[in-house]
Amino acid sequence: MFLIVVITLPAIFIFQAKRSKEAKETSSVVSRPSFDWIMPAPPLSRGKASYPSTPKLLKLKQSQTEHSVAGYDTGSLSLKLEQLIKSHPDSHVNHDLDQKIIHGEIFLNWWSSKEMAAKFQVVPKSKITGVFLQPGTQMKEFTPTLTIDPFWLANLMTPDEIIFAYLVLFHEYVHYQQYIETTDEQTKQLFSTNFLSEAEKEKLHITQDQSCAHMWFAELDAYAQECRLANEWGYPFGDQFCLYVDSPLWSQAFFTMLFNSQTLDPKYKTACMRVHAKLAGHPHPELFKR
Ligand SMILES: [Zn+2]
Repeated sequence: MFLIVVITLPAIFIFQAKRSKEAKETSSVVSRPSFDWIMPAPPLSRGKASYPSTPKLLKLKQSQTEHSVAGYDTGSLSLKLEQLIKSHPDSHVNHDLDQKIIHGEIFLNWWSSKEMAAKFQVVPKSKITGVFLQPGTQMKEFTPTLTIDPFWLANLMTPDEIIFAYLVLFHEYVHYQQYIETTDEQTKQLFSTNFLSEAEKEKLHITQDQSCAHMWFAELDAYAQECRLANEWGYPFGDQFCLYVDSPLWSQAFFTMLFNSQTLDPKYKTACMRVHAKLAGHPHPELFKR
């Protein structure tokens, strides 16, 4: 049984790319190029779907209890998440993620938003409020946190939705591994920049360009790993986006996906697209205004 933790977060400004499971599979459909950067057709074609088997998940009903969030009891939400994690085809997710949550190494946070299903963040201790902790749990100065949308989790039901959820959890777990494997203290702090004030960032010598570059490399890696899994299963994740993974076009495909994202915060676009255009090898990064 998971430790049940409910926290409220300040407004966040991390992106979640649009993930469409109704993606069309016609090979002639290529993402619209932006700023005349033509996206060539993908070098891979999608294989036949071969999804891992999926469990019958708990059906959750809305009810108001002492510990409910968005109308769902957090105990039932935790049980459903546990089912999902324990049945995950990836051995790191189904073992490590489960254990990390049980032992409080990763906090669980329920947060309802139309923009995201789940996200991994590292939250400074001072920014965590309203935490329900088991007695004796020690909070670290920076707390790795897995945020899950309770509506999304409560309504997961079909094999397609479960496969998508597996990919989402896998992606977020990659971010946790990136954080754990980072040994440099300043780079570690970059995982928390969404929660730091301008003054705090200045004190830590964190610039906007550094945060943007950090996000670029963290997401480029997490999406590449997620896409390899989606391709292995023949799952149409992100329309044609995943068919560019491990090719020389991958950075361009990732940039185009970010640029075309419907849910990416416009503030984020203004702040980071120029840095990302440069890192992606865009011929005219200067066109992206700050
Ligand atoms: Zn990510």
